[in-house]
Amino acid sequence: MPIIPISEVSFEGKKALVRCDFNVPLDNRRITDTSRIDASLDTVRHILRQGGAAVLCSHLGRPKERTAELSLKPVAEYLSNALGKKVALAPDCIGEFTGRMVSDLALGEALLLENLRFHHEEEANNRDFSHELARGKQVYINDAFGTAHRAHASTVGVTQFLRERAAGFLMLRELQILQAVTQNPAHPYILILGGAKVSDKIGVIKTMLTRVNLMLIGGAMAYTFMKARGLAVGKSRIEEDKVDLARELFAIAAQRHVPLVLPVDHIVAATPAPEASIQSVTTIPADEMGLDIGPHTITEFIQHLSTARTIVWNGPLGFFEIPVFAQGTLRVGEAVANLSGVTSLIGGGDTSAAFAGQQWANRFTHISTGGGATLDYLEGIELPGVKALAIG
Ligand code: AMP
Repeated sequence: MPIIPISEVSFEGKKALVRCDFNVPLDNRRITDTSRIDASLDTVRHILRQGGAAVLCSHLGRPKERTAELSLKPVAEYLSNALGKKVALAPDCIGEFTGRMVSDLALGEALLLENLRFHHEEEANNRDFSHELARGKQVYINDAFGTAHRAHASTVGVTQFLRERAAGFLMLRELQILQAVTQNPAHPYILILGGAKVSDKIGVIKTMLTRVNLMLIGGAMAYTFMKARGLAVGKSRIEEDKVDLARELFAIAAQRHVPLVLPVDHIVAATPAPEASIQSVTTIPADEMGLDIGPHTITEFIQHLSTARTIVWNGPLGFFEIPVFAQGTLRVGEAVANLSGVTSLIGGGDTSAAFAGQQWANRFTHISTGGGATLDYLEGIELPGVKALAIG
């Protein structure tokens, strides 16, 4: 079913409820990575320039109750600077006082509602709460790709009450690249998988085995696959109960003639600590854990990737939060960023956090703002937030 792009909506004289993904990492109420906010600025600016008013809303973190730590205040401050005009923060996302702020909002101005998840009704996709969210607005724009895999009040329920609805520029860009790597990807097509858990990625591995020519596996998940192969994993983080599944995935991959390439060497330490003494090994000693791919693996991965025309990457190749274990992710990242003639999609979350601040990070075709939503889309699961935007 078709979804309407934001460019086809007339905002003149209207108040738009804009679902953004401002779920940014915070350190002591300071935003440490603003890329998700930056990615929605085009949508906000467009609405204001077209003579509308933008009522922005988002969740932040996973609050059980209202807490100052997860207030969107730092986001309102950042937005005010970025847009060059004051963006006030409403004390709530619904209620009488907030309703008055919405009705007082002038055209050409933006207002940010407080954290949606201060109300449990948001995640419950509650009908009355959805109705309240819609109150006083005439148009709904969803630009929160990172939350599109969740059927919440602000992503799904609200569309029952705001029939005029469209996708924001960020949402459109995310969907466009996912469509490109799904419907008609150029081959060779390589999937890079990393991160901690195989269990989160079973579905996507199975679907992608029907699409790609090769999978490169790193991160902690590689050790569950190595264990399935009977290789030494020492004290590495593995999922004992997924070893059989990893065996099954090897069998499916073999039937499909898709090589699953595992690391051939590792950076190991006794603990994942910055001060730990590290070594590079081909066999993991019993009392050590694998925390990054080693130099030979980096070279081998880069060689494979240099042949690719489509690359999708989800999950870091090591414990990247500690710089000595970030080398695999960064060196392979830089190599992918510098390839030409390749569509490269970086699947959000930790992988993009690992690349934050790198000069070459803007050379990928796209760094997605949504990890979970990207995985669901690639697996072939319809995203409820996108479905709810469809007209017809
Ligand atoms: P995920 O959410 O499954 O993508 O996992 C991301 C997490 O995996 C990050 O916090 C990484 O630090 C972690 N990770 C990646 N490689 C390793 C490893 N070799 N050992 C332990 N944790 C790892």
